[in-house]
Amino acid sequence: MPPPVFRFAPSPNGYLHLGHAFSALLNLDLARQTGGRLLLRIEDIDLTRCKPEFETAIYEDLTWLGIAWDEPVRRQSEHLADYREALEKLSAQNLVFPSFETRAEIAKLVAQREASGRWPRDPDGAPLYPGTAKLLSSDERARLLGSDAPYALRLDMAAACARAGDLFWAEHGEGPDGEIGAVAARPEAWGDVVLARKETPTSYHLSVVVDDALQGVTEVVRGQDLFWSTSVHRLLQQLLGLPQPAYRHHRLILDAAGGKLSKSTEATGLRELRAGGARPADIRGLVGLP
Ligand code: GLU
Repeated sequence: MPPPVFRFAPSPNGYLHLGHAFSALLNLDLARQTGGRLLLRIEDIDLTRCKPEFETAIYEDLTWLGIAWDEPVRRQSEHLADYREALEKLSAQNLVFPSFETRAEIAKLVAQREASGRWPRDPDGAPLYPGTAKLLSSDERARLLGSDAPYALRLDMAAACARAGDLFWAEHGEGPDGEIGAVAARPEAWGDVVLARKETPTSYHLSVVVDDALQGVTEVVRGQDLFWSTSVHRLLQQLLGLPQPAYRHHRLILDAAGGKLSKSTEATGLRELRAGGARPADIRGLVGLP
């Protein structure tokens, strides 16, 4: 059997905190215990929020923590052609449609629907896309595509689920409600997710799935906040004919008030902790690793 392949995949949109340290150290420990490899991927497709200084800081902070990864590092911004190709495969299956509404227009459409009853929300709590652009005539769609109007390319979720059928993934960690083992994917809970935008030929969901396959990742070890995103990832793997890795979602490191850590909270930032005299072994202790 070839050795397992793990990856740590931070976004350079802020400095790393204890939550990242836990995830990276867990990946490292599991790779060492299993004779596996650890890869590093920089998820920098959001050019408005990602900055070179944060990327440099990621390398510095991980090195300080004692984390070594196999080269080369994969930077998503350098691989847009790979994502475009995957998007074309989905388009060729008639599973992608453009939607032209602004965020404000979508909020208004959702409010109208909520006025006459409950409107579903995705696992992150955001209202589902109301599906209006699927009703456009082909003439109107062609006219808008030819105009200056910005648009998002969305997955037609009902059609995609019908094509893929029932899907499961192998969970070696634990979901937020204790899910473990073969977990049934529920991609429909996310509605018509955005796969790309006019200016960016990809999205988090699309690039993560393409990259995990191209990098030969066999074990995805990441935080429980991404547990239900795995439903969308399994669906895209199925539609694109990609292999499915095993998943291990881990507990989240929370702040003193029990909230999610943010990249701007100094108390849990690795740089601040280091400046305050913490050593790498102290970081392991702070996140509950031996
Ligand atoms: N880039 C994502 C993040 O920083 C992680 C993606 C993943 O592990 O699948 O939250």
